[in-house]
Amino acid sequence: MKELFSVEIRPLNYRYQSQIEKDPFMKVLYIFPHPDDESFGVGQVLHYQSRIGHEVYLLTLTKGGATKQRHKFGFSIEEMGEVRYREMLEVEKVLKLRGMTVLDFVDSGLKESNPIEIEQAILKEIQKIEPEVVVTYAVHGISGFHDHLVSHALVKRVYCQLQAQGEGPKRLAFYTVNEETSKKSKHFPLSYSTDQEIDCVIQVDPEDIEACRRALDCYETFKATIEVSGIKESLPLNVPFEFFQEENPVKATSLFDNL
Ligand SMILES: [Zn+2]
Repeated sequence: MKELFSVEIRPLNYRYQSQIEKDPFMKVLYIFPHPDDESFGVGQVLHYQSRIGHEVYLLTLTKGGATKQRHKFGFSIEEMGEVRYREMLEVEKVLKLRGMTVLDFVDSGLKESNPIEIEQAILKEIQKIEPEVVVTYAVHGISGFHDHLVSHALVKRVYCQLQAQGEGPKRLAFYTVNEETSKKSKHFPLSYSTDQEIDCVIQVDPEDIEACRRALDCYETFKATIEVSGIKESLPLNVPFEFFQEENPVKATSLFDNL
């Protein structure tokens, strides 16, 4: 009975402390179609999770060579893809990723690619990393780019296949934005998830926002698009996620809550 009335004294950095104690060295694998998807609004979470001791991995399905920006530099799709890959190697360091794999499926062409091949590549990476949680885009893909929608569907398929075998990650989470963030986007219309659909909100610190801005700066060839989007000024401190097939009465504050 005594414990019931005792006062809990928390150290000043209790948020980090409690996260580390609760979720010792969890592994999370983010799967996105393009270079920069990981930095466009969610990089602050990748940095935060790495900083508090989790192992953060990134799988990118394409090298992003099809961007219109390539014409400005006179690059072919292949050359642009190589440049963006080199930029990603810098991002990997800035966000303190534990590992990164960049595949070479057709940028802006995932809908025309054989889904079985993409699924096999996703499965191989999940089996290699063995993460507790896998993250990809929410069903609306935020920007609505078709590659984002295809990624959502294929990652979900692989996750369900593993679940059916009693294997694989314990949770599938979807990166999303809320209505407030969507309204702030002046040049690109963004789809959002409703408050009811959002299962988790991760609060990061200003230093994580700074790191995400530095990660965006690594994409030198993409600078114009990044500037126009205004993303560097609108990175949220509170980042929402949906959890697939979960109904949680209370919103989680970590991707690893209740695992
Ligand atoms: Zn993208």
